[in-house]
Amino acid sequence: MRMKPVSMALFTIPEWKTIPFLVHGFGNKDWQQNDFEAHPRLRNFKLFFLRQIHSDILHIVDDFPEDVLTGDALLTDRQDILLVIKTADCLPVLIVDPKTKALAAVHCGWKSTSQKLVRKVVKCLEEHFQCDPSSLLIAFGPCIGKDCYEVGEDVRKEFEERGLTNDVFLPHPQHAGKFYLDLRMATRHQLLDGGAKDSNISSVDLCTCCEESLLSYRRSKQKEGRMLSFIGKSSP
Ligand SMILES: [Zn+2]
Repeated sequence: MRMKPVSMALFTIPEWKTIPFLVHGFGNKDWQQNDFEAHPRLRNFKLFFLRQIHSDILHIVDDFPEDVLTGDALLTDRQDILLVIKTADCLPVLIVDPKTKALAAVHCGWKSTSQKLVRKVVKCLEEHFQCDPSSLLIAFGPCIGKDCYEVGEDVRKEFEERGLTNDVFLPHPQHAGKFYLDLRMATRHQLLDGGAKDSNISSVDLCTCCEESLLSYRRSKQKEGRMLSFIGKSSP
């Protein structure tokens, strides 16, 4: 059996440790699916995965469907379900409302962001779970940093056409038609637009492309391998 300190394989938000019902974490490349079973606080949870497709599709989880759902965000207020998001460069976002105890896990790549997925998640938390957006606590996991995330004119145009602000793109100093995209800032804009408070947003500020302990699609050019981020509510 592999021995490894759990704390080394998971990033957590220190302020969130005081929320008694909550479990959460952003796994690095060493955190595997079987680590959930080995973890004393996680082993009783049922893991809920999505077939992620870079969309604006979100699902409210009440029970386990026969087939794997397709989409990029999960919301629930049910206990003992662990919402799991897989990433390797995209931004994993975890949300908890300490009052209603509603939770969300969101997969934010540029496509979902251009389709305002995280904005839609906040709206759903507000309308379906009666959350006050200003009380939502939000955590960003590791993602590709703004100095490494090179995109083309097509991406910038997509944002522009959908009425999103352009300040998240920095023109490439050498290559015309190339830009650097700040995925964290783009996501933050949408959260604030939805009524979330800036001071309620925490972030694990590591770049997947620069940090060897993290998985990066851009760095490795490999499709296989995703890091697991999760959030769940335990029984009292
Ligand atoms: Zn980087």
